[in-house]
Amino acid sequence: MNVRQRRDRLSALLDRHNLAAALYLSGENVRYLSGFTGSNGQLFLDRDRTWLLTDGRYAAQAAEQADVDEILIYERLDEALRKLLHEPVRTGFEAAAVTVAQWRDLTQKLPKLADAVPLPTDAVELRIAKDDDELNAITRAIQIAEEAWTSVQQAIVPGITERELSLKLEWTIRSAGSRTVPFEFIVASGARSAMPHGVASDRTIEEGDPLTVDFGAEADGYFSDMTVAGSVGRRDPWIEEIVAILEAAQEAAFAVLEPDVPCADVDAAARRVIEKAGYGEAFSHSLGHGVGLAIHEAPRLSRLSDQHLPVGAVVTIEPGIYVPGRGGARIEDMVVVTSDGYRKLTSLPKSAYCWNQGDS
Ligand code: ZN
Ligand code: ZN
Repeated sequence: MNVRQRRDRLSALLDRHNLAAALYLSGENVRYLSGFTGSNGQLFLDRDRTWLLTDGRYAAQAAEQADVDEILIYERLDEALRKLLHEPVRTGFEAAAVTVAQWRDLTQKLPKLADAVPLPTDAVELRIAKDDDELNAITRAIQIAEEAWTSVQQAIVPGITERELSLKLEWTIRSAGSRTVPFEFIVASGARSAMPHGVASDRTIEEGDPLTVDFGAEADGYFSDMTVAGSVGRRDPWIEEIVAILEAAQEAAFAVLEPDVPCADVDAAARRVIEKAGYGEAFSHSLGHGVGLAIHEAPRLSRLSDQHLPVGAVVTIEPGIYVPGRGGARIEDMVVVTSDGYRKLTSLPKSAYCWNQGDS
């Protein structure tokens, strides 16, 4: 789907919400709707035309990338918007992409904008269902990360620090063509494996340590996100036990995936397995999230979500068990919802790993 087709879809949405114009402020949505990838850009659309607004640093890049009716190069955003807001029309703006202070400043300089209303959720969360081009990019981002992982995991021996492992993985991923990495990798070993977001520290990994590694790559602006867990040098029966529970929890979530399934039901299916195994309290986050141009994007697979999963939605399924003082594990795969259920996009094994086991 090209950006004009995306905007046609958006027009219908705006009509339904009685909005005559919309102002997009997040880099991801500006890119999604125009093709422009610069770090500063806004998109203003009315019923007939689309403008990309950016500053002089991006004039050439905007002219090359942005498929819009007009590009406005500005020194001050309010002055550029002043040219576009002639008569009072009902305008929606991407409220989550600005701070209260930024919006207050903008509307003080441009009182016409003060009547703008936050865009409804469906006009902000445009990117949930991925098209084929997006799925291809995500698949490449997965492939880069998985190949890097496969080559790096031989380095997981007692004596390596978490940070060394994280850097090796990042170097390999970026060398393979990933322009950036989607987030600071989580390399959580020993008792730190009980931290769901234990980014790599200077801790030295020791024989017998549990280890969870959460990483990903980028391709054409799209991200991948995956997690593996196990133990180093020697099998840890407790880690094997909890990873087996996590695998069963993932299977339970996969089993309910179908078009339009409520996100809360997918979370519940996995959570039930973990609760039954006695670790309900130890699963302290939601089951997953959308991945695309942003590493965490809508929808959220959470008990609190009132969203549904359309065909084309790409989400993670990432149950975890964390016992403070002892350790923990998480496994994470990416799936796409299809008309007949789902397809798993990631392919690394998720059973408990035992890295560089000795000859014992
Ligand atoms: Zn992750
Ligand atoms: Zn994730």
